[in-house]
Amino acid sequence: MINIFDIDLETFQSQIAQAGHQPFRAKQLWRWLYKEEQTDFELMTDLAKDFRQYLAQHYQVSFPNINFDHTSKDGTRKWLFDMGENNAIETVFIPEKNRGTLCISSQVGCALECTFCSTGRQGFNRNLSQAEIISQLWVANQMLTDHYDSQEHKPVTNVVMMGMGEPLANYDNVVGALKIMLDDKAYGLSRRRVTVSTSGLVPAILKLKNDCPVSLAVSLHAPNNRIRDAIVPINKKYPLNTLFDACHDYLEKAPRDFITFEYVMLRDVNDSDENAMELVNLVKNISCKFNLIPFNPFPKSGYESSNKDRILKFQKILIDHDIVTTIRKTRGDDIDAACGQLAGDVQDRTKRTIRLIQEGKK
Ligand code: SAH
Ligand code: SF4
Repeated sequence: MINIFDIDLETFQSQIAQAGHQPFRAKQLWRWLYKEEQTDFELMTDLAKDFRQYLAQHYQVSFPNINFDHTSKDGTRKWLFDMGENNAIETVFIPEKNRGTLCISSQVGCALECTFCSTGRQGFNRNLSQAEIISQLWVANQMLTDHYDSQEHKPVTNVVMMGMGEPLANYDNVVGALKIMLDDKAYGLSRRRVTVSTSGLVPAILKLKNDCPVSLAVSLHAPNNRIRDAIVPINKKYPLNTLFDACHDYLEKAPRDFITFEYVMLRDVNDSDENAMELVNLVKNISCKFNLIPFNPFPKSGYESSNKDRILKFQKILIDHDIVTTIRKTRGDDIDAACGQLAGDVQDRTKRTIRLIQEGKK
């Protein structure tokens, strides 16, 4: 059985054509699946009966189980999906006035070992399949019934690949999922509303530019190679000059005319006035915006967040040099839902969640 979430429209079209079915049926199915959120072939009323039978014999629509589904006081909602073998990934929905942003995961764990990241500390377990990536969006839209105003306006209007994992290290599956997000016959999101966040895998940035240029966020986190080598180890392979060349290159096709630089504020590590001035110099030739992220602590991290005044001062220096700089609001604090805050050991957490469910406490 093939999981339909794992294939793209063209592949599906040719598979059904080989079996003697009209290719336009593929588009009809896509509409049922992604626009109508219908997974039962029998209820896809305008599909011919023999085609529905063929589908039932060869295909299925399946997505991971949900271990945890919780809504924070501020409306942020978090799901924990079961990835088997006691692993889990997180998906977070952040409602705002005029949009709903879904933060989705791309891998179980991450191999890149950024020192301030709890995912990186856990090491790498496996890549998510295309189905496991797109399921996060499908399930969120389907479950956020309170946020629907019509079938045309789904609750999730923006997607950011800022959950667990490094999206560009799982390139094919991530790009497959991105294409479904952008496809008019599926979600039809504009490229401006879909963001890939990367710690700086230079060859993959250059490839993404041609394959699927969505909005790009780069986890910069340091104003020079010395600090970046220490906290974002991939910098030793792709240092700042190569990263910036790739960013310049990407801008030729980027849907927005700037790159977003993410910068986690780590007390006494990368947050001094001198660091801010170094940054001003570093980015002076590139069109960019900054998003300062207060560090989200987790046990035994060894780091502290810069305090509020320090972050504001850092921001002011950048703004005074004409760099648009925002500070990321922490949302969903009470449910550990802040982006990059996949705190603690996920395996333990999943087990804990399963135990609580079994004990009837969730
Ligand atoms: N792997 C990708 C995307 C996932 S992380 C990347 O690194 O860009 C999303 C963002 O959260 C990244 O900017 C990441 O550096 C940041 N982040 C990770 N751990 C964090 C923490 N403990 N506190 C604040 N931000 C964190
Ligand atoms: Fe991986 Fe991103 Fe965490 Fe670095 S910050 S370890 S790239 S998930």
